[in-house]
Amino acid sequence: MEIFNEISPLRAFLKDKKKSGKSIGLVPTMGALHEGHASLLKSSISENDVTVCSIFVNPTQFNNPTDLSNYPRTLELDVEKVIKVGCDVLFCPNENEIYPVPSPLSFNFGELEAVMEGQYRPGHFSGVALVVSKFFHIVEPTRAYFGQKDWQQFTIIRQLVNDLNFPVTLKTVPTTREADGLAMSSRNARLVGGQREKSIVFYQALTFTIDALKKGESFFKIKEEVAKRFETHSDVRLEYFELVDSINLKSIAIVEMADRPILCIAGYVGDIRLIDNMFIDLT
Ligand code: AMP
Repeated sequence: MEIFNEISPLRAFLKDKKKSGKSIGLVPTMGALHEGHASLLKSSISENDVTVCSIFVNPTQFNNPTDLSNYPRTLELDVEKVIKVGCDVLFCPNENEIYPVPSPLSFNFGELEAVMEGQYRPGHFSGVALVVSKFFHIVEPTRAYFGQKDWQQFTIIRQLVNDLNFPVTLKTVPTTREADGLAMSSRNARLVGGQREKSIVFYQALTFTIDALKKGESFFKIKEEVAKRFETHSDVRLEYFELVDSINLKSIAIVEMADRPILCIAGYVGDIRLIDNMFIDLT
């Protein structure tokens, strides 16, 4: 596997590959890699001649400085993991390589970012769009892979790609979960003591809701019940729980209002922020 810390040699390497007609898959990550990332990498490896994994903890997408400083960084282990999965190229630039000077650019995704993550993490998606745009320009991938777990992020990136005509095909990969259902996340590494057991409340809220919807209960009532469940746990806090149309992220009252409805949830266990989601198929 080739490892690059700088943009120019990476570009030269990829230019050569592209000249010989090779397709390039890009899997952008912030490191502290887990099986969810591995699943994205495997999808890319199976569909492209060359797979590039990027590891960069992007400061511009953190609205909370403590979250940024606490974000797990495990580069040595990550290198072993990407080699093991069979990735071709690892791009792990430092902050200065990506932001030699602070960028004044900002993005506004309108209604897509007015809800859920956007509402609770002001500026987050602008930072995501900035760094993803940079990586698309640096790598010029044929395909880029994103996890379903960050569904709102995916819809934002789809908007970015459409509006700015990036010549890339976007792919989503289903969420990889722990045996008890907890969505894998780099932040899970920070769960200590009883927090790990408590974190399952997010997954349980999603499965409980889908069962209740199947029984014909109203989402409004289920949401109240879920909020109550969160209140019974100490150290756990619900930030939002929404039923939305997965295309435009607009809130819906009943699943029939969207072709592909999705439940999205976020909150805290201690000071660790977790998110999850699940598509709804009542058939
Ligand atoms: P991150 O390193 O958290 O920025 O995530 C990098 C990519 O991996 C994003 O596209 C995420 O949506 C995706 N990802 C994170 N967790 C999972 C998971 N449990 N299953 C599948 N993809 C994931």
